[in-house]
Amino acid sequence: MKALVRFDPKPETLEFQEVAKPLVDETHAILRVEAVGICGRDLEHFREELSPNKVPFIPGHEFSGTIIELPSGVENFKVGDRVTAETVDSVCGKCDACKNENYNICKKRKNIGGGMNGAYAPFIKVPLKYIHKLSENMSFEEGAMVEPVCVTYNAVLVNSDPKEGELTVIIGAGTVGLLCLQMAKLRDAKVALIGLPQDASRMEVGKELGADYLIDATDDPVKKIMDITNQNGAPLIIDTVGGSSKTIDQALEMVSPGGQITKVGWFMKTTNTSLDTLIRKNIRLQGSFSHTYDMWEKCIDLISSGKINVKKMISKTLPLERWREGFELGFNREAIKVILRPGQD
Ligand SMILES: [Zn+2]
Ligand SMILES: [Zn+2]
Repeated sequence: MKALVRFDPKPETLEFQEVAKPLVDETHAILRVEAVGICGRDLEHFREELSPNKVPFIPGHEFSGTIIELPSGVENFKVGDRVTAETVDSVCGKCDACKNENYNICKKRKNIGGGMNGAYAPFIKVPLKYIHKLSENMSFEEGAMVEPVCVTYNAVLVNSDPKEGELTVIIGAGTVGLLCLQMAKLRDAKVALIGLPQDASRMEVGKELGADYLIDATDDPVKKIMDITNQNGAPLIIDTVGGSSKTIDQALEMVSPGGQITKVGWFMKTTNTSLDTLIRKNIRLQGSFSHTYDMWEKCIDLISSGKINVKKMISKTLPLERWREGFELGFNREAIKVILRPGQD
């Protein structure tokens, strides 16, 4: 099969190569990939130098597909089922995290699309344990959005505590930011969305999704939040921005005493800001990573019942062959989410 392969640790080394079609085994099924989302992390990875032991691999971890092959004796799935699958290929099963059903943070965890082959390909091999059926009313494109929805479910509703009528600040107006906004709205929080001027169309979508305040990231957002909150600061800040330490500095300034900051965006550099603020304000600063089985089932329900709107986030669907165009749309912030469809011309 022809798949998109990251073949070298050097940046921007991604191309179509002929690779062996994955084979079914006792614990895995083969899916025909129907849709795969371009994630912000795929874009960041594309421009990063990777460690040499990571390549070659096929990226793509936000996907849906049709089961085309199953090992014998499987009862809960059949060939032809429309499904999505988690981003985990395997975990140790023995550590404390695994024993407590927190396999998302197992240290031995292997990730699909990040070392293990992912979904920028016509076919993918996925563990039976981590497959989830799509609801009948969900499209494959929506199915490819379940993964980022789970990321934000874990960040906002499990690891953080947005409260009804209180302000939640979301920094970053990308897919994750806009999904975090919707999660906070499920708890009837007031939401301030902070985005860049070049995010204008994304901010507009944020408004349609219920953001109470739209704030320009280049126009002293800390002051704006302090003004909105009577100089108290906001009880919850969700920082979805990757690759910047500036936003975490801002979060420390705009969080209220006793509040929480949840970090979802990656590639934070060490910041020069004193973390004494954490102590002085008695703040909880936390990271949120990935998701687990129950969250996937809940998020599929949230999407199929219309409580979480992912359609508004899908800006464009392109055939996989046109991935460069999709990546450009992401880099230029012209799109929110671009979905690629293998095998569609
Ligand atoms: Zn992702
Ligand atoms: Zn483990």
